[in-house]
Amino acid sequence: MNIRRAGQRHLRPVLLAALLVLSHIALAQATSAAQSPAAVAYTVDLSSPEQHLVQVQIILPPGSSQRELQLPVWNALYQVRDFAQYVNWIRAKDRSGKSLAVRKIDKSRWQIQGAEGGAIVEYQIYADSPGPFGAQLNSHHAFFNLAEILMYDVDARNSPLTLHFSELPSGWRIATPLSSPGLNFRVENYDRLVDSPIEIGNFEESDFDEAGGHFRVIVDADPADYDMAAMVGALHKIVAAATSWMNDRPFDTYTFFYHFPHGPAGGGMEHAYSTAIELSADAVKPSLDTLTGVTAHEFFHLWNVKRIRPQTLEPIDYTKENYTRALWFSEGVTSTAEGIIQLRAGLLDETQYLYRLGEEITELERRPAHLTQSAEESSLDAWLEGNAYYRRPERSISYYNKGELLGVMLDLAVRNASHGQASLREVLQWMNVNYAKKGRFFQDSEGVREAAEAVTHTDLNSFFAKYVAGTEEIPWDDFLRSVGLHVVTMTSSVPDAGFSASRNFDGPMSVAAVTPGSPAEHAGLQLGDVIIELQGKPAGQESRQELAQLNGGDTLAVKVRSRRGVERELQWKIGSRQEISYGVRDLDTVTAEQHARRIAWLKGEAQSAGAISGVAPTVLPPTEGLRVNRE
Ligand SMILES: [Zn+2]
Repeated sequence: MNIRRAGQRHLRPVLLAALLVLSHIALAQATSAAQSPAAVAYTVDLSSPEQHLVQVQIILPPGSSQRELQLPVWNALYQVRDFAQYVNWIRAKDRSGKSLAVRKIDKSRWQIQGAEGGAIVEYQIYADSPGPFGAQLNSHHAFFNLAEILMYDVDARNSPLTLHFSELPSGWRIATPLSSPGLNFRVENYDRLVDSPIEIGNFEESDFDEAGGHFRVIVDADPADYDMAAMVGALHKIVAAATSWMNDRPFDTYTFFYHFPHGPAGGGMEHAYSTAIELSADAVKPSLDTLTGVTAHEFFHLWNVKRIRPQTLEPIDYTKENYTRALWFSEGVTSTAEGIIQLRAGLLDETQYLYRLGEEITELERRPAHLTQSAEESSLDAWLEGNAYYRRPERSISYYNKGELLGVMLDLAVRNASHGQASLREVLQWMNVNYAKKGRFFQDSEGVREAAEAVTHTDLNSFFAKYVAGTEEIPWDDFLRSVGLHVVTMTSSVPDAGFSASRNFDGPMSVAAVTPGSPAEHAGLQLGDVIIELQGKPAGQESRQELAQLNGGDTLAVKVRSRRGVERELQWKIGSRQEISYGVRDLDTVTAEQHARRIAWLKGEAQSAGAISGVAPTVLPPTEGLRVNRE
């Protein structure tokens, strides 16, 4: 996920005989899935888009008399959202049309009796949750995370199923990473089904080949708001940079879904064979920077979290939280990789990268909770993020923010421990080969440590104990020295709006704190107020930039809704305050060794034996230069 800005394996001949047998078995299974009544069959009726009502029919094959159907309580976000709240009604009948008893077991589970000959279950569910984490049907389109609308047969979750859409409004087409022509899809199991988002409507489509894979680009937006050719050009670079960095492409086809709404937008959601990204049209129109950052992050997730996966997220428990200590790695280090991929793709230069690093350090240091909540605890507490109080700076840190910084520091620590012979790249590749490719899951932070120690042949316990499991201050300069950098502290007088606000993913922006005695307090702003508009524009991802452009003395105008639902328009004058921020700068003297280490670090690569002996390479390969001009 991203909220911030919002290979084919070669087979050895000796395996061929075994493979032939396996392919026969696979064929037999595919045939039985296609023909046998054993497959659960879903039909999704889209005839009521104006009412946002989805009619679902599930045909259960003959089997045991008693069946249980479960609707997931969470999906996409690590937050319990109880999708069952949207189920209007449910009923069941047998194959002859006789009604069967449906008994509710708990808020998200139903039991059906008398289904030994099979059953036809029907229910109606309301779907109007927009964005990459939602499920929505309206007169414009449908976009579904299917776990939010489709129940599963508890005893058949791992069995093949079929999916069919009916009553599509005229002119609508379907885009999905599920491979099947037409309106009928055959899927190996429920988990795979719900990891496959679906866009249905009038979208624009493009495709391209890169690194041996085929890529589809599905865009649902006003054509005036984006340039498909420019986007595809950037996607080529991201795919090439990421697959070459991982030396892997574990898929044949991959789909990018984009939505560019006017107004607030959500961010990105990763899937094993696709990503769904929603960005405000205002953010995409002037520059592709936000889009390439979020895209690099979500694309890298196809390894980190989808295939290099913590054991604590498996099997997925759709009935309650999966608690994991690994989100600092699965999300945060994905953000570290996002930066490296952008550098390798020539979409970010060294100056921009170091500026961003300073911003991330500032964000962590400014949150008092960095001394009380560890990266692992922040991962466990992900499930609390929907609550405004939890998001306060004195209560929590972000596993995205600290995890990204831990990824950068781990990269430098691995380089130090291996004398430049290994890097974060080798750690991730080791995890890909030793976990993902072997179908194993890793043991949260211990699994990351195992990989880092394997590629460095050293004990890295102290790094993990102090900075991952613990809350010790990270000694930035100790890590950055090896690449000739250090952190400088800057104090400046900055505009102060007198309040802080936070959002829950694509949720509304709510006031988390109001400075006592400030003009904001005098104007009547209150804790918990939801900010609807800021300077006349809908509040959303871009509001932070909007605020940053204001100077002391400027007037801020907001429209807010109180916790009791009363809307007010408030305005007050922006004040100012002293603020500390951090920047990453060159040391006074940068040695040849530090210079060589920095060049390798910014390419995301280990050093050659020559470089670590102090012979600094002075010329970068032309395709991977760090200062490639933007097009
Ligand atoms: Zn993410």
